[in-house]
Parts: sequence; structure tokens; C-alpha cells
Amino acid sequence: MSKILHQLIVDLGERSYPIIIGQGLLGEVDLTPYVTGSQVMIVTNETVAPLYQDKARECFPGKCVDLVTLPDGEKYKDWQTLNLIFDGLLEKRHTRKTTLVALGGGVVGDMGGFAAACYQRGVPFIQIPTTLLSQVDSSVGGKTGINHPLGKNMIGAFHQPEAVLIDTNSLKTLPSREVSAGLAEVIKYGLIRDPGFLDWLEVNMGRLVALEDEAVGQAIFRSCTCKAEVVAKDEREGGLRAILNLGHTFGHAIETFSGYGNWLHGEAVGVGMIMAADLSAREGTITREERARVARLVSLAGLPERPPEGMTPDDFMNLMAVDKKNVDGQLRLVLLRAMGDAVVTADAAVENLSATLAGFCR
Ligand code: NAD
Ligand code: MG
Repeated sequence: MSKILHQLIVDLGERSYPIIIGQGLLGEVDLTPYVTGSQVMIVTNETVAPLYQDKARECFPGKCVDLVTLPDGEKYKDWQTLNLIFDGLLEKRHTRKTTLVALGGGVVGDMGGFAAACYQRGVPFIQIPTTLLSQVDSSVGGKTGINHPLGKNMIGAFHQPEAVLIDTNSLKTLPSREVSAGLAEVIKYGLIRDPGFLDWLEVNMGRLVALEDEAVGQAIFRSCTCKAEVVAKDEREGGLRAILNLGHTFGHAIETFSGYGNWLHGEAVGVGMIMAADLSAREGTITREERARVARLVSLAGLPERPPEGMTPDDFMNLMAVDKKNVDGQLRLVLLRAMGDAVVTADAAVENLSATLAGFCR
């Protein structure tokens, strides 16, 4: 049985598109209204293909559907692997009227979207995200791209999809560690923009970890609403969009320190959000009790609360010095002005930052 639970529009003028959220939608919802030509190319990977390719094909009745299967993993988010998509498109003679469909997590979504931005100078694409992280974050907003050996996501384009289809059932096959990692970004939306959602998360986190459909649908809807509002106000990251990086400056330092693949992005962001809350409390914008609420939520999501053992304040300072948000060598951080309200600032007192780092590195 399929059930559409929520629908919202990402409002970007003529580039606006719907996000359709529900249970059992894959294989049931007809996506042909979002396809202009007769050809569809599904881009997926070797893990997701056996699970969902048949159902995904059923979303395009009457269309000529081809499939490219990529190897699985962030390390394949590169030029060589991207070329496999172009090989498939050219071998199967896909024209400028083709539609690409990204079926998988954020890696497949970013690569499929970037291939769509480049192929024949740009063709339409549809996102069918299958991880929680991709459903609440990477499938919305139009950032696409690949990694370069010298930097993550360094080659890319803005290219908005025609539609995003989110089937909460696909999360049932996702490893629970990946579910928790996605929940970090969900908590982030409450913290940066939606205090009411934070209250809701405190009551419902157990239902989310247990993947109860209704609760998961609600959490995805509110997360996508938040991201859609931020993106609609700042499509190309001129300013506001940077608040989506709450917890990410500390988090990226943890990811880099711990080495590729040892910490999931969401795990590092969870710790990073507690650190940002701790610093905000020292700056006096939130209370110690509110800082403790953040830590509790992160822990309820099944995420770590501390950086990896052996990581020192100097490690943090050195790794954070290369953050993209920094301007003229000045460290810029996303901090909480209140619960549910974030701001990008370079004004945090050095002694407060030192105290936060010292408190977490033991
Ligand atoms: P991922 O795409 O690597 O997926 C995680 C793992 O889950 C993979 O092994 C994948 O094959 C597997 N998987 C996917 N769906 C599954 C399912 N339903 N059942 C079982 N296994 C499944 O990782 P991710 O966390 O989804 O995405 C991370 C990527 O997203 C990073 O490359 C990051 O840069 C990117 N990202 C992009 C944006 C953006 O705005 N474009 C935002 C955030 C993150
Ligand atoms: Mg993130």
C-alpha cells in the first residue's frame, strides 16, 4: 500500500519543483509528468540497484528506461566514475531530451545531478534519494558535483531537479548507523530555524530511530521545508545558506582528523553541534540547560557526543583554519543566537573557544 504523506514546493520561480514524501511510493507514483522526452536514464549504484531498480523503473510507464550502475562509495565520487554515466548515455544514444534519475544516497545524487548539469550542456533530472541524509539534505537545493583529489565537492554545478520523490520505505534497508547520521542533519534544522520542531524531536526521537513511518515522514517533511525555505532565500549561498553548516566546522575537523570513512559525516556533525552549543552557552546566547538539551538530542539519535580519542584543541584549530566560511584568515562559526535561531559569526571570544575545545578534548 502506498500513501503520500506530505508534499511541498521548493519555490525558485521557474526552477520550482515538488518534493513528494510518503510510504511505498517507489513503483507506485507515476513520475512521467516530470519527463519531457521518451528516454530516461536511471543512475544508481551496485548496492541500491538490486534493492530498488525494478520499482524505480515502474515510475516511468511508457518510457524507454536505461540504467547505469556505479561502484558504491564516496571514493568513487570522481571524474572516472562520472564518465561511466556519460558512456552509458552516449552508448544508448540519449538525446538532449533525456531525463536522468538519481536513485541512491547523496553520492549518487550529487553525481547524477552533476552529470545532468553537464550532459549536452544540461538535461533535466529527478532525485529519488534512498538514505535519510539524502532525503533531508542533499536531494534538495540543487548543489551537485564530485570530489577532486585535493578537495571534497570541489568540482560541481548548481542544477535543480524537476522533482524529488522520497519513499520512507527505502530506509528499512539502510544500516542503522546511516539512519543516525541522517538524524544529525534533522536535529540541525530544528536548531537553526524551528524551535517547535526541536520540541517535537525531543518527544519523538525514539520513534524516528525505530523508523516509524508516520514520524519519519513528518521529520523529513519539516526538514525539507526548512532547507527549501533557506534555499529559496539564498539559492547560491550568498549568505543565509551558510547557517546550514551548524556543527560542520567542528565536524569537518573531526572527519579529517579521523581519516576517510571512520566517522560518518552525520556522526561528526552531531558532535560539532554540541560543541557549537557549548560555545554559544559560553557566549551567553543560550543557557547551560539548553546546551544540555542539544547533547541529549544528539545522544538519543544514537550518535557520539565526543570527538575521537586523542584529538587535541590544536588539531581542531589547525583543521578549522582551512574552513570555506573563513574570510581573510578569520575563523567564522555558525553559533546559536537562541534555540531555533543560528547566525554566522567571527566574533566568538577566543577564550571561550579555547574553553570549549579544552572541555571536549580529554
Ligand atoms: P552515500 O550516498 O554514500 O550512502 C550511504 C551508503 O548507503 C552507501 O553505501 C549506499 O550505497 C547505501 N545505501 C543507499 N541507500 C540505501 C538503502 N535504501 N538501503 C541500503 N543501503 C543504501 O551517503 P549519503 O550519506 O547518502 O550522502 C553523502 C554524500 O552526500 C556526500 O558525498 C556529501 O558530499 C553529499 N552531500 C551533498 C549535499 C548537497 O547539497 N548536494 C548535502 C549533503 C551531503
Ligand atoms: Mg551536512
